[in-house]
Amino acid sequence: MTEFPKLFEPLDLGFTTLRNRVVMGSMHTGLEDRAKHVDRLAAFYAERARGGVGLIVTGGFSPDRTGWLKPFGATMMTHTRARQHRRVTDAVHAEGAKIVMQLLHAGRYAFWPRQVSASAVKSPINPFTPRAMTERQILKLIDRYGRSAALCREAGYDGVEIMGGEGYLLNQFLAPRVNKRTDRWGGSAANRNRLPLEIVRAVRAAAGEDFIIVFRLSMAELVDGGQSFTEITALARELEAAGVTIINTDIGWHESRVPTIVTSVPRAAFTEFTARIADAVSIPVCASNRINMPETAEQILTDTAIELVSMARPMLADSDWVNKARDGRVDEINTCIACNQACLDHGFENKMVSCLVNPRACHETVLVLSPTRATKKVAVVGAGPAGLAAATNLAERGHAVTLFEADERIGGQFEIARRIPGKEEFAETIRYYTRRIETTGVELRLNTRADVDTLRGFDEVVLATGVTPRVPGIAGIEHEKVITYPDLVLGTRTAGKKVAVIGAGGIGVDVSEYLTHDTSPTLDLQAWMREWGVSYDPEAGGQLAAPQPAPSPREVFLLQRKTSRIGKDLGKTTGWVHRAALKAKGVEQIAGVVYDRIDDEGLHISVGGTSRVLDVDNVIVCAGQESVRDLVDGLAAAGITTHVIGGADVAAELDAKRAIKQGTEVAAAI
Ligand code: FAD
Ligand code: NAP
Ligand code: SF4
Repeated sequence: MTEFPKLFEPLDLGFTTLRNRVVMGSMHTGLEDRAKHVDRLAAFYAERARGGVGLIVTGGFSPDRTGWLKPFGATMMTHTRARQHRRVTDAVHAEGAKIVMQLLHAGRYAFWPRQVSASAVKSPINPFTPRAMTERQILKLIDRYGRSAALCREAGYDGVEIMGGEGYLLNQFLAPRVNKRTDRWGGSAANRNRLPLEIVRAVRAAAGEDFIIVFRLSMAELVDGGQSFTEITALARELEAAGVTIINTDIGWHESRVPTIVTSVPRAAFTEFTARIADAVSIPVCASNRINMPETAEQILTDTAIELVSMARPMLADSDWVNKARDGRVDEINTCIACNQACLDHGFENKMVSCLVNPRACHETVLVLSPTRATKKVAVVGAGPAGLAAATNLAERGHAVTLFEADERIGGQFEIARRIPGKEEFAETIRYYTRRIETTGVELRLNTRADVDTLRGFDEVVLATGVTPRVPGIAGIEHEKVITYPDLVLGTRTAGKKVAVIGAGGIGVDVSEYLTHDTSPTLDLQAWMREWGVSYDPEAGGQLAAPQPAPSPREVFLLQRKTSRIGKDLGKTTGWVHRAALKAKGVEQIAGVVYDRIDDEGLHISVGGTSRVLDVDNVIVCAGQESVRDLVDGLAAAGITTHVIGGADVAAELDAKRAIKQGTEVAAAI
């Protein structure tokens, strides 16, 4: 008997049955493009299938070369390719899951100059201007979709997912934002809907009746010139009539001004849109976006007519998510914290996708944690992300591990991060490691500052002592107005009504979010929708309304010495969200600052040679970190084999992604 009966109810599709309601959503991992990666792709999906997923959707494969995401991107165009993919489908089927290939035509989101679209309307996030497709090209493309679907069938896929959202080609035809055509493919909703519907019919005709067709439908486009919800509902009904088996949810375009999946988006934020579509059609409808834990998934299936729940990134974070939910081991789930740092940010930087909390994701065959043949007594010093990853993976491999932590709790800097409004998910990582320490048998010694003597007698030491905030050499830095970011966020000190933040890196930006919020909109869906301007009005184009951010409780100045744009080095898929949020809260961002002094008057600065006094109540210092390496020399002198990881290794450009990766790699190596 499972805690989540709805989630584990099989779904009969008439000609085939899914073993449960969990869909692994499509993710482009970087393994799709080259034939040489097919076995790694098979291992990646097989691990998720073994983990219990009902249906897997692959990353996007184009039906022809005009739809490449980038030059020589993934396609499904030949019998040779179909034969290679047998290795993927066989591996997944052997584990009891079903798998469909996503067919995606990038349209004007293609990252190459020879892109095509409904009309020659350039995307604001792409340097190239597309050519409008001719009637002949459109008809050929419909044919290509059918051919790809037949090849998918030949490759052993249970079906296809037709990507109709996210602002890709079919969405470009559907929305007046890009579709300016005056022929039978543009103008009225009936004309704009024609291409996706013709593609569905072509796929059904080519692949047969016993073949899953998922259509990924944009339910809230969140762009000006997007379809209205009334139009989308009518389209959903037509897709059903055209032969679609399942409607999957898509939210927003890549160029939308509303965040849709970052960590500050409330869990299941867009379910209401999907639920309304589920009420309008009789085929199964699948929810998605910011669903990462079984309670949320079960609630959606219980409270609405939605029949499936899609999770993509959560399956990177924990390939065993479904089995753990089924067996009542929810506290063992390594939760996706929606940081995007190792998945989407990597994808957009053309790097292999992985996961911040699970660096083995997409590296299953290269980062292997096999049982040790020679058990060692290992001390891990520091229970921040680096030490936690090292200690638990070492113990799981069979080593005898003692984890020393000077603080009264585990988490290191993550304990600060989780208190930032919009970063509540980070607490899940601390919960995960708390439980994993128990399940792997790590001996945890809290309130214990390890020194060299403590560490004698261990075979090897992993030093994960992390970082400490840098104290910049500014005159008056010892003034009582000055507060360190840990003191502020951990509540040791409170800030007044007017505050300057020194340093505009990741932490300075987070601290500014902390200072400009009384409560977290992430925990209140209605407040979040008002803040970003999302509307349930069925006639609102793109489901947008005017944003109404709550006023900031403080006046905040965010400062940096560099003259570059503030927040420039934040993550590609998250930085813009922070920048927009701080702008909405009226944070004054000043670059090119020289810090002159801090005194009773406030913070004295010069910008471009002009002096200015910021008459602030407090100055919060977020001027980077320095490594804590006080044990390194002593351990070397004592002849103890030591591995230094995370912030203790290098403080510059440290993030939890590197900390956890280094911790996992050292655990694999000892
Ligand atoms: P730490 O987290 O510093 O942990 C070191 C631990 O060692 C501490 O618990 C310390 O008490 C302990 N220790 C030190 N000396 C000893 C000793 N002698 N004996 C025993 N214990 C000892 N990173 C991201 O990737 N994404 C984010 O979005 C993000 N947001 C952040 C937001 C904020 C507000 C902050 C402060 C940080 C954020 N970070 C983020 C950074 C991330 O938390 C750090 O990169 C990460 O925690 C570094 O891990 P670590 O294990 O190397 O060090
Ligand atoms: P950081 O990104 O290196 O920023 C440090 C800031 O301090 C910079 O703005 C720097 O800018 C300033 N600074 C450095 N030395 C200074 C000095 N002597 N005097 C005054 N200012 C100084 O580091 P961080 O903000 O501490 O963040 C640490 C790490 O945590 C980051 O590398 C980041 O990866 C991670 N993190 C990530 C996120 C995320 O959302 N992904 C969020 C938070 C933290 P100037 O030198 O121009 O003044
Ligand atoms: Fe989730 Fe972050 Fe991992 Fe991506 S990198 S899967 S967002 S935890």
